[in-house]
Amino acid sequence: MQLVAGAGLIAASSRSAPPASVVRPHTIDAVLAALADCPDPVLVAGGTHLCAEYLTGRRPGTLVALDRVRGLGEIAIEPGMLRIGALVTHEAGPKHPLLRTHLPEFADAWAMIANTRVRGWASIGGNLMARHTRYELSLLLSALQAQLVCLTPSGATQRLSPAEMWETQTPCLLHHVAIPLREGHAFSYRRELRPVVTVAVCRDATGARAAIATEYRRPVLLTDASIDTLPDDFADPVSSAWYLRRAGAVLLGRGRADVGLHG
Ligand SMILES: Cc1cc2nc3c(=O)[nH]c(=O)nc-3n(C[C@H](O)[C@H](O)[C@H](O)COP(=O)(O)OP(=O)(O)OC[C@H]3O[C@@H](n4cnc5c(N)ncnc54)[C@H](O)[C@@H]3O)c2cc1C
Repeated sequence: MQLVAGAGLIAASSRSAPPASVVRPHTIDAVLAALADCPDPVLVAGGTHLCAEYLTGRRPGTLVALDRVRGLGEIAIEPGMLRIGALVTHEAGPKHPLLRTHLPEFADAWAMIANTRVRGWASIGGNLMARHTRYELSLLLSALQAQLVCLTPSGATQRLSPAEMWETQTPCLLHHVAIPLREGHAFSYRRELRPVVTVAVCRDATGARAAIATEYRRPVLLTDASIDTLPDDFADPVSSAWYLRRAGAVLLGRGRADVGLHG
């Protein structure tokens, strides 16, 4: 604790965030203009990840708050797609009737993320755009073959897979996530060995696929939902490739059974 004139006793950590400009646009165009023109802009959705980043030394020049922007918080059906706005929170998303009707297993998986205190603020967009290997939505959405629809500061639209998003460094606004709705859809998420290894499996009329990740590795897509397609070098600082292949195969087998794949 420190005694600060005019403020009284405050925790040292409360003083560690240095000053930054704050802008609170109302429209998507104004967000894009801020991304283009403001010094070192950082978008703020729920702020749950950014708070943690402050503690590791991140120092944004301009905080661009998204809380007043219209059009980022809806869930809707489009032809063949379910669309989830980037600001939809972990609390609201899994309870939404469209999610419960069309993608109930994904809704259940999303509902497992984080704790009550965080879930009301944390957004799907922040989870994805943090590009943090410990966060789970990139894995879930990889298996679902979702697309992340982004707007660049110039207003161009980009549609990226979750894997492509990890490679993209250019500043952009994630507008929404588009998840294909297909005949015969079934989905399973196995996180009982988290953080060592997690696996999501999806089956539909186009085939089956799975994604696997660890606390330290971004998701890898397993074609045909087969552990045989896992790269030989899939290891992380605490688990060997041999161990992850064995543990991953167990989870994959459970996930395959969940979605009605046998053998
Ligand atoms: C205690 C705790 C427990 C947690 N447990 C889990 C867990 O079990 N599983 C899990 O997956 N996650 C977990 N998390 C992480 C949590 O899910 C993320 O912190 C959260 O989703 C981030 O969302 P946010 O809205 O707070 O993002 P913010 O902190 O506002 O932003 C995060 C990053 O994304 C960027 N960003 C945000 N929105 C956009 C957008 N629309 N377009 C472009 N960039 C954007 C920001 O600039 C920033 O870089 C946990 C977090 C905490 C604090």
